[in-house]
Amino acid sequence: MIYDFAIVGGGPAGLTAGIYASRARLKVVLLEKGVPGGQIATTERIENFPGFPDGISGLDFASLLEKQARNFGLEIRNLTEVKALKRVKFGYEIETSDGVIHSKIVLIATGASPTKLGIKGEKEFTGRGVSYCATCDGAFFKEKKVMVVGGGDSAIEEALYLSRIAAEVTVVHRRDQLRATKILQERAFENPKINFIWNSHLIEIKGEEKVKSVVIKNKISGKEREMEIDGVFIYIGLQPNSEWLPEDIRRDERGFIVTDENLMTNWRGVFAAGDVRANQLKQVITAAAEGALAASLAEKFVVG
Ligand code: NAP
Repeated sequence: MIYDFAIVGGGPAGLTAGIYASRARLKVVLLEKGVPGGQIATTERIENFPGFPDGISGLDFASLLEKQARNFGLEIRNLTEVKALKRVKFGYEIETSDGVIHSKIVLIATGASPTKLGIKGEKEFTGRGVSYCATCDGAFFKEKKVMVVGGGDSAIEEALYLSRIAAEVTVVHRRDQLRATKILQERAFENPKINFIWNSHLIEIKGEEKVKSVVIKNKISGKEREMEIDGVFIYIGLQPNSEWLPEDIRRDERGFIVTDENLMTNWRGVFAAGDVRANQLKQVITAAAEGALAASLAEKFVVG
């Protein structure tokens, strides 16, 4: 069995590609190492996707997207981790945790994962006070003191979410200005439960069974201080999930996949879409749009 189109990754880019390719009646399969949804399923609320004036929960959005793709007959293989990609005569061979799949065209839509701080205590206390997902773990910190590290959209959005659960949220940022969208900044500055520590880095996370405190260093004065805290949520950016790909698929210095304007990589017939791609905007809407474009280009490639 040779598929026309194999999609690797079941976030908004992969699922949207699946909707378009299924409607084009390509022989298409979507391979997902967990269950469909991607990062969006761990996002508390999406407020900027057009058509949802009251916003929608990330989990609801992900399950609607999956349902829509299945309605058009998309074959989704859950719990199927892709390990390697090889060129063969008719197209590509994809090695997965569940056997080998053959396809004429491949879309890489494996998304991105949270960057780690790489400090002492981070790994040790992950799941014991250190988290990368406020939606998943926020409920453990009811009326407690939590810290959010980072100054981007994710950090501020999740600090706002945590402020509805925790007693106090402290945002630690390495500069004196946030990177997050202005509307999020306005909400955070107005929120009485959120306070900021500027120009500072976390240098250690301490505890016993669970996190008890952090050591913070001010970049300007060089002073270090220890602060008691119950939870640390880290949002300092994203790393592309591209490490499984052959070395000669072109990537930028951070590992994001480089494509041409038609989303094709330097391997003919291998496309990339969404957060794993070196693109300008990492949003649900751009991931979905790239998925749609990749599927329509794949159709042209297969059908001619
Ligand atoms: P991001 O935009 O790359 O922001 C990362 C933040 O972490 C920055 O404030 C950065 O500081 C800081 N940082 C980076 N490395 C650090 C380190 N080693 N130590 C301490 N701080 C560090 O990442 P993100 O917030 O995860 O967002 C990723 C992408 O998804 C972005 O394109 C974002 O717009 C998008 N996103 C959008 C929404 C939305 O539209 N609602 C929600 C979530 C994410 P500097 O500012 O100094 O660089």
